[in-house]
Amino acid sequence: TQHLAATSTAVADYPTSHDQIQDVINTHNFIDNQFVPSNTSQWIDLKDPATNNLVTRVPQSTDEELKAAVNSAANAFPKWRATSIMSKQQIIFKLTHLIRQNMDRLAASITLEQGKTFADAKGDVLRGLQVCETACGITTQLTGEVIEVAKDMETRSYREPLGVVAAICPFNFPAMIPLWSIPLATVTGNTLILKPSERDPGAAMIIAELCKEAGFPEGVVNIVHGSAKTVDFIIDDPAIKAISFVGSNRAGEYIYTRGCAQGKRVQANLGAKNHAAVLPDANKNHALNAIAGAAFGAAGQRCMALSTLVMVGETKDWLPELAERAKGLTINGGFEADADLGPLISPESKKRVEDLIKSAEDEGATILLDGRGQHPAKYPNGNWVGPTVITNVKPHMKCYTEEIFGPVLVCLDVDTTQEAIDLINDNPYGNGAAVFTRSGPTASLFQKELEAGQIGINVPIPVPLPMFSFTGNKKSVAGTGLANFYGKDGLRFYTQWKTVTSLWRAEDALATDKQVAMPT
Ligand code: NAD
Repeated sequence: TQHLAATSTAVADYPTSHDQIQDVINTHNFIDNQFVPSNTSQWIDLKDPATNNLVTRVPQSTDEELKAAVNSAANAFPKWRATSIMSKQQIIFKLTHLIRQNMDRLAASITLEQGKTFADAKGDVLRGLQVCETACGITTQLTGEVIEVAKDMETRSYREPLGVVAAICPFNFPAMIPLWSIPLATVTGNTLILKPSERDPGAAMIIAELCKEAGFPEGVVNIVHGSAKTVDFIIDDPAIKAISFVGSNRAGEYIYTRGCAQGKRVQANLGAKNHAAVLPDANKNHALNAIAGAAFGAAGQRCMALSTLVMVGETKDWLPELAERAKGLTINGGFEADADLGPLISPESKKRVEDLIKSAEDEGATILLDGRGQHPAKYPNGNWVGPTVITNVKPHMKCYTEEIFGPVLVCLDVDTTQEAIDLINDNPYGNGAAVFTRSGPTASLFQKELEAGQIGINVPIPVPLPMFSFTGNKKSVAGTGLANFYGKDGLRFYTQWKTVTSLWRAEDALATDKQVAMPT
């Protein structure tokens, strides 16, 4: 088995099993189109979540290394900005092609480091690839405006890049979320410093290699590693003009506040508690299958995981059947063909999830299906929690107020449609919400009344494709939500307007006198 966090451009092989890696290679930074070994004395052990075997060591990069990356991006900016839009577009075309070609290799990295199943890891890559594909249309997406404001006078607007921008990524989508930034930040003319999650940077390193192969000049895409110390460096370095953050509320609210205080533009997508209301007129089979997939897929470690059910009226009687379907899902190493869900990212995460299940028990909820204490026979040492269904949950319980981020479905029940709407809206998060119903008027009511930013009607995980933007709301984003990721808002985030007003008139018609009053 080859280690796959890229250290050179010559990694051809990739793992297809969770076997112990014999020669563990440290993960490098990627600066000036080179994989550069770190001189740090602080290393973060990255372990396969299915086995807890060491996969690689990730550096807490030194300040000198971080500065070198920022300098690389700053030096590259003037030339990159002046590169024609068609040349940039060609590089994105090539990158799109290379990502598709390397789909299995990227997915294998994700399965090994993050734990999700190989099939699901390919979906992770695909959703990032779609952002790249959309960016190929940049030549028609980045146009400005022009109007003749007076005789011989016109005002036109241009969308200019910001300069050096940074992205800080979470662990749960190691390919998709770096690809929310890389194509859009660069195709708009910025140069980028990207910090992947220190828990699974392998996919980002492969993407870095592909960026070089696609033809990005030195310094346009740089990757640096580390945890909070690297983040503080990014927030404080004056050369960095904007930060794209995706991750928890704890980190994101801090980055947003401190980044904005330094005058940086910050987009920040945060935590979630996504609800689905199930109505008695729903197609039961569709609803139960969709819910089981969306609650337990990726072991519940998706920001759009469907983690909370609101059963309206008699649908609470459907819960035992839902638990049966959940019980039928197989937990296993992500490379195993029968795996429906893999392990949690870390032993700490497993403990946190188990503690939350225990808290529900202590507070009087019912554990209808208990996933604690399970593990696949072949992988006794992984961070396993099986599908868990908790019923009779009340809004004050800790399992309801906290984001669990594990394969745990929390179920509440109400008598009426309006109570379901009120309950969902009372929750401070607003990433996504779904409703299962066959009634058009009921669907329309939910669509209008729900405050969540992304609504699914009979669709459990309504993540918009990249011709739209990711539109979380309330506590699921920091700030005003004006700076959404990808789509039109994403392009807006990475560009600033410049307006130019010009007067071209025959010499003899030019002003001959001084005008001291504002023109009216
Ligand atoms: P995290 O906040 O722990 O880590 C995200 C990034 O922030 C990492 O790169 C990490 O190094 C850095 N970081 C962590 N703690 C920090 C601190 N104290 N100071 C500065 N930087 C810090 O998040 P995670 O556990 O990797 O990801 C899971 C979370 O991300 C969940 O809450 C999930 O809902 C959220 N998420 C949201 C979206 C979305 O679009 N809304 C998408 C994916 C994940």
